[in-house]
Amino acid sequence: MKVLIAEDDNISRCRLEKFLEDMKYEVISCKDGLDAWEVIQSENAPNLLILDWMMPEMSGLEICRRVRQQAREPYTYILLLTSKNEDEDIVTGMEAGADDYITKPFNQNELRVRLSAGRRIVEMNKELLDTRDALRKKVIYDDLTGLHNRYYMSEILENEYSRALRHQTDLSCLLLDIDYFKIINDTFGHAFGDLVLREFSASLKLGARKYDFVFRYGGEEFLVLLPNTSIEGAQSVAEKIRAICESKTYTDGTNSTITTVSVGVASLKHHQPSESKELIAFADKALYRSKAEGRNRVSVYLKDSSMQSADDKVSESKDFRYLKETISSVLEKIRNASVQSLSYMVRTLVASEHRKHNQQVIQYIELVGERFNLPPRVIEAFKNAALIHDNFKVLLDKTLKSKNKGLNTSEKLEIESYPDMMAELTGLFDFFANERSILQHHHENFDGSGYPAGLKGNEIPLGARIFAIVDAMVAMLSERPFRKSLPPEKVIEEFADSAGSQFDPKLVFILFDIIEKQQVFSLPETVFMKAKEKVRKSMVNS
Ligand code: GH3
Ligand code: MG
Ligand code: MG
Ligand code: MG
Repeated sequence: MKVLIAEDDNISRCRLEKFLEDMKYEVISCKDGLDAWEVIQSENAPNLLILDWMMPEMSGLEICRRVRQQAREPYTYILLLTSKNEDEDIVTGMEAGADDYITKPFNQNELRVRLSAGRRIVEMNKELLDTRDALRKKVIYDDLTGLHNRYYMSEILENEYSRALRHQTDLSCLLLDIDYFKIINDTFGHAFGDLVLREFSASLKLGARKYDFVFRYGGEEFLVLLPNTSIEGAQSVAEKIRAICESKTYTDGTNSTITTVSVGVASLKHHQPSESKELIAFADKALYRSKAEGRNRVSVYLKDSSMQSADDKVSESKDFRYLKETISSVLEKIRNASVQSLSYMVRTLVASEHRKHNQQVIQYIELVGERFNLPPRVIEAFKNAALIHDNFKVLLDKTLKSKNKGLNTSEKLEIESYPDMMAELTGLFDFFANERSILQHHHENFDGSGYPAGLKGNEIPLGARIFAIVDAMVAMLSERPFRKSLPPEKVIEEFADSAGSQFDPKLVFILFDIIEKQQVFSLPETVFMKAKEKVRKSMVNS
């Protein structure tokens, strides 16, 4: 360990040097306080100081005070050397920041033990600091990728946000999410997924600039904070990152794959978030748009409806569109999962040339689609169609050929009905087609006075008519804000009155019948009789 001696008295200093060197300390010695102060200020300065109290230029006491003012790390242990030994002086020395003192001429044994005590304290402090630094590293870095983590992100974001406001500079945020990352895990395993995450993070660092902050935001999500960067600047950084990621191949020697990333961009000056968190929320919405519009792209958050074209309908308001994008991105996953499970089902049945054929078809579709400049969503549908076609064909062949072996004429018939059968099978995947009309028309009235289409009578889908009645009944019976629930008798009366106008009278009649027979409410028979009579009349009228 290094120790600094500052002593103006030559004899005393030489004695000290010799003694400490014998004890295997690395000694730096100074003849006055100013020299000593210079050494203390230098890099790798000793943390163990023996300072004479009285020295020219700067006293040991003054050095003590200055050292303590600086709160140096690791701790600097100071032994004051003094010829005074009155109690009062010792107090002054300790108050100035000395840890211990020794009187001149010094007793060797005493100096040895006091020095060792100081040495132990410095060493212990170094250990503590190392532990603290390691902990700090754990708290702010992500283990897997070595990027800063989300916890640290909040801290930096808050700082950068208020700094930008203070200096009226810009601050941009990119939120990135790797596309179809789950498939990489599912296909090659989690360890390979980890490798992709690590290497992806490295490219991200490469794409970002020196003053940008790169964080792992979550599983396969990343956040880049760009101080002093406008929306246009942020867009070009994002585009650069996107391009780097797209062109990279990930390999572990056995497997290799490529991947793409979707990015959302938001900026302080352009989007005027009301707090730092909102900047991220905006970038997140933009990221959703990138996903919904086909992935592997950069989207800037659309600030408000004034940024949309003027002829956008009310129903295409910002919030509605966001909702649509969110739901369609959920559904897209279901769609992909359906196609994938179909492929899994077929995989065991076919030879590898089948898969190769399919891959080539898909490749050509992509080329042609790009040539025509078709939107990614449309190309995706074309590709799905090719994949579904090939899978269905395998399944149809398997099912029908094995049954009708050798029957050539019927085989021909079968082949000609493949397209219809494929359409029918595809229909099975269209799982909300029937529900759509109910949702659209459940506010139509039986007499045509409802909305949105003003449909009348049997023009209204049966499902919509049933839903309207059932929904209304439950609503009338339940307690709601601003309205008390109706007693059963009133409910019956209400339905009888609206039969033929709001509701389909036949269905109202059936509803009464069910309520009476199943004894949903126990009401006197006469109530039902009266109500049914009313409905019967409205049926005749309508
Ligand atoms: P999208 O294009 O919609 O983002 O699809 P996706 O598959 O990337 O998105 P999803 O959110 O469905 O899947 C993310 C996957 O990332 C699921 C999760 O298992 C995986 N993942 C999250 N953290 C890690 C990790 O540390 N290592 C590995 N190998 N996988 C991870
Ligand atoms: Mg002196
Ligand atoms: Mg994700
Ligand atoms: Mg993802």
